[in-house]
Amino acid sequence: KQAIHRICSGQVILDLSSAVKELVENSLDAGASNVEVSLKEYGQEYFKVIDNGCGISPNNFQVLALKHHTSKIMDFPDLQSLTTFGFRGEALSSLCALGDLTIETRTENESVGTHLKYDHSGLVTSERKVARQVGTTVTVEKLFSPLPVRSKEFSRNIRREYGKLISLLNAYALIAKGVRFICTNTTGKNVKSVVLKTQGSNSLKDNIITVFGMNTFTCLDPFSPCISGDWKVEGWKVEGFLSKPGFGCGRNMGDRQFFYINGRPVDMPKVSKLVNEVYRTSNSKQYPIVIMNFTVPAKAYDVNVTPDKRKVFLSDEGPLMLSLRESIEKIYSPSHC
Ligand code: ADP
Ligand code: MG
Repeated sequence: KQAIHRICSGQVILDLSSAVKELVENSLDAGASNVEVSLKEYGQEYFKVIDNGCGISPNNFQVLALKHHTSKIMDFPDLQSLTTFGFRGEALSSLCALGDLTIETRTENESVGTHLKYDHSGLVTSERKVARQVGTTVTVEKLFSPLPVRSKEFSRNIRREYGKLISLLNAYALIAKGVRFICTNTTGKNVKSVVLKTQGSNSLKDNIITVFGMNTFTCLDPFSPCISGDWKVEGWKVEGFLSKPGFGCGRNMGDRQFFYINGRPVDMPKVSKLVNEVYRTSNSKQYPIVIMNFTVPAKAYDVNVTPDKRKVFLSDEGPLMLSLRESIEKIYSPSHC
């Protein structure tokens, strides 16, 4: 039974970045305005996410890391109008199965915090009081150690995993308004470097400047296309920034293309392919920088397609794509229109 749990967990938590993503989303769900990601040896020894959110109340300590425990869905209709990132209660239980989980937390109703250790099946093995501010710290040590093959793979690819994680944290730092992000990595004999640090501005523009610098920002134009009336979804909006014609970046365009639905970072390979295609008809040497947020009503998309919630289905995608193509062609190949 434990083996089955381990295998299922491995589908929710695919790699370092999907593990950290779940913790960061929990912090955002908890209303944190400060999120710190702290890594040891690029996340291989441990990763922890420290927040100043609402904390976890003591009556949740025992059940927190059990499968399908969530405090976030009250009843079924909620599934149709998700506003929180988490809702399936799978992350902490999966992380328990795949590594050594400890939690330190305090709500404003408690005068001291609590330090909790969990075993691989999600049960509390030790509990003691600690001094701490209101908020939560979740630490995962030795991710994937119960899965020897995955574990080997993990250390072999650690630099790539780390790169993917940084790009994911950039995605949140760009879009999360009023949330300060910091990420540090400690290597060797306590050499600690700050990898990312933002001020938690309320504007996407300011966040782009802090994350990528003024030089990059000056290569961008705001983008808010008119999507034609053929897209039968009401109350939508698309907003963001695109490379100015002639300004792009070379390889690693994955690091410079960010897609969101309602502020949730997602993979949109079709939209990415479309923008690249149009851009590259006039500038085949580069790729465009893309930061694009789709605001759509909750019933118009489905994030439950893959366990890690990265892939998304939009309803009635055809007309949307046509319409997007038209507006991007207006920018990059004006003679077409
Ligand atoms: P989900 O996010 O789908 O509810 P998780 O397994 O990610 O499931 O988390 C389980 C529960 O633990 C959450 O519903 C929430 O009550 C609590 N929790 C986890 N992380 C935090 C955090 N950083 N701050 C406050 N509560 C948290
Ligand atoms: Mg969660």
